Amino acid sequence: MRYISTRGKAPVLSFDEAMLTGLARDGGLYLPETVPTMTHDEIAALAGVSYEEAVFRVIWPFLGGALGDETETREIIAKAYADFGHVARAPLKQLADNHFLLELFHGPTLAFKDFAMQLIGQMFQAVLKKTGQRVTIVGATSGDTGSAAIEAFAGLDNVDVFILFPHGRVSEVQRRQMTTPDAANVHALALDGDFDDCQAKLKDMFNDFTFRDEVGLAGVNSINFARVLAQIVYYFTSAVALGAPHRKVSFCVPTGNFGDIFAGFLAKQMGLPIEQLIIATNQNDILHRCMESGAYAKQGVTPSISPSMDIEVSSNFERALWWAYGKDGEAVAALMDELQQGGFNVSANAMGALTQTYTSGRASEAETQAEIARVLAESNELICPHTACGTHVARQHLGATPVITLATAHPAKFPAAVEEASGVHAPLPKRMADLYDKPERVTRVENDLAALETLIRERRVS
Ligand SMILES: *Cc1c(COP(=O)(O)O)cnc(C)c1O
Repeated sequence: MRYISTRGKAPVLSFDEAMLTGLARDGGLYLPETVPTMTHDEIAALAGVSYEEAVFRVIWPFLGGALGDETETREIIAKAYADFGHVARAPLKQLADNHFLLELFHGPTLAFKDFAMQLIGQMFQAVLKKTGQRVTIVGATSGDTGSAAIEAFAGLDNVDVFILFPHGRVSEVQRRQMTTPDAANVHALALDGDFDDCQAKLKDMFNDFTFRDEVGLAGVNSINFARVLAQIVYYFTSAVALGAPHRKVSFCVPTGNFGDIFAGFLAKQMGLPIEQLIIATNQNDILHRCMESGAYAKQGVTPSISPSMDIEVSSNFERALWWAYGKDGEAVAALMDELQQGGFNVSANAMGALTQTYTSGRASEAETQAEIARVLAESNELICPHTACGTHVARQHLGATPVITLATAHPAKFPAAVEEASGVHAPLPKRMADLYDKPERVTRVENDLAALETLIRERRVS
């Protein structure tokens, strides 16, 4: 299996190389040259197997043996999901007629990011052990990626982890999950700026090839293909639970960086009968506006009660565009250049391709709050604000085909917003009840590339 860049000019890599690299050297994102498919019978045979076994069957053809033989690969997968608080890993609940909720928040940091991050942590460890290499992982987070990364990599060999988060713009639970692990190889950095600033600094570091090579820079943001890969699995397990491949399903995905929903697209490419992938945004609705008008136009980000979706440079959308433009790397590179100036227009042909798979909707702040209260009243489920954007949008698309809304975080991760909307306090699960008692460790940093690079050089264990 070979991995190529969306911008067409970076070296072709194997799975493990693409995983260690993260962002391609031409600024693009890695994707498999061809997507492996599963037959009708192979999909049907996922019914009733353990989540870990489904992970193995779905990801194995993408790996090219990068994690070792079948037994070694299964061991890595088993370790990744061992700390989840639910035996099903991703249980499915019914909310209403033909509307289902896929609970992706039973991992160690209570958001769906754990599904990919726990696995990628074990994958890094396995690959680095073979080569003896040491890497520095730098990540940008609007909250959930950073906590999942710090939790997944804390104490692992051969890796230092630095996480940039926007100072004052993450929830207290998110912050504490980043600042309380005491392993020496993980570092939480509070940047003066918003999430797009964090993401921009991260990209600048990757484009500083001297620094990149000196510290062995690696990325685990949602641009890392290994993360997208891990997220394909729960599309299969949940669809099969509702009758796939004999029956079609649709998914509604609370979306920010487009990583999660793009994994759904890959599941569809692999053969899973998905009717629609519904992009749900909050008030930062650049993706919804683009789907409606064809214009991807930046307007600035307004902080919301669903902060993990407060994004307007939706990195993984580049992968969707690459497909929509018939895998034309030059066309994608040109669009991304235009984005630097504020935006671009998607061609009519490419919009045609996008709308074949995706549709979209948005939830305002008031709609998100009302939705949390409504779902509690009608279905007796307490949901987080991100999930509420999803169920709000999903309700506008209910019909003959069942819709699965991805519940991307546990309500206890955003207790203030949930309580304001519903009057109900969401308690942390018992296994993490001591989060508020642990000491915090965090470094405040300015929005400055040179200062950041110096800090990372000094702090990493070399
Ligand atoms: C990251 C995140 C999202 C957005 O996922 P993307 O892959 O960036 O689109 C939605 N909800 C929650 C809770 C998240 O942590």
